[in-house]
Amino acid sequence: MRWVRFEQDGEICWGHLEEGTITVHSGAPWAACRHATPERLPLESVPLLAPCQPGKIICVGRNYAAHARELGHAVPGAAPGEAPLLFMKPPSAILAPGAAIVLPPVSRQVEHEGELAVIIGKRCRRLGAEEPVAPYVLGYTCLNDVTARDLQQTDKQWTRAKGFDTFCPLGPWIETSPQPGPRPWDGLQVETRVNGELRQSGNTRDFIFSLERVLQEITAVMTLEPGDVIATGTPAGVGKLAPGDRVEVTIQGIGTLANTVTAADAP
Ligand code: MG
Repeated sequence: MRWVRFEQDGEICWGHLEEGTITVHSGAPWAACRHATPERLPLESVPLLAPCQPGKIICVGRNYAAHARELGHAVPGAAPGEAPLLFMKPPSAILAPGAAIVLPPVSRQVEHEGELAVIIGKRCRRLGAEEPVAPYVLGYTCLNDVTARDLQQTDKQWTRAKGFDTFCPLGPWIETSPQPGPRPWDGLQVETRVNGELRQSGNTRDFIFSLERVLQEITAVMTLEPGDVIATGTPAGVGKLAPGDRVEVTIQGIGTLANTVTAADAP
């Protein structure tokens, strides 16, 4: 099942997408009183927004061994006691599918990081070790963890490098089950293309830390609320973006998130 979020007559709406037709719902997918309305819309008739506006975006750094190596870092272990590297992006960085990533003048090296994003559907805190995450996950979508690599390397904290407006493209929709089975996030191909050229290719089966482990570690620290987003880390092949580029993140069973790139001073 696919959920889309869009604007219509100045209002933010949610809908269920099936074969190019949106069935408009009365509220967010996690709203207790939500119901399907009789209204139907063709997908092409409305510009899509990011499929949720999270209260927080929590990201995993270095969750694929090959990416840790390409940046010259030690590969973290998944042994008990070694926790994933976590950081946050601000909700103000969220960008709709199709919209432009704006390159800030203070950075000379803004890079793409295509990632699988997890959308929380139910409040959760202090999940147990290897506790099934399905009851708490609404679904999955594509995310581009856009990063000012030069600032990431000079700043001790990554708030600037990861936090510029437009640095978190998300979408195009939330897919509740990218593949059948008890772990619908496992075994998905994650690819990033720039101007049609394949730059990043990985598979979520190569996660160093499983989604169960990631949610256990995050919820040991903070309560996750419906609509919160988890970015699960990027595979190898990150690279620089330039004005005029078109960057696409494609995930098996979900679809493609496409965005353009523009300079800050472009008209
Ligand atoms: Mg990342």
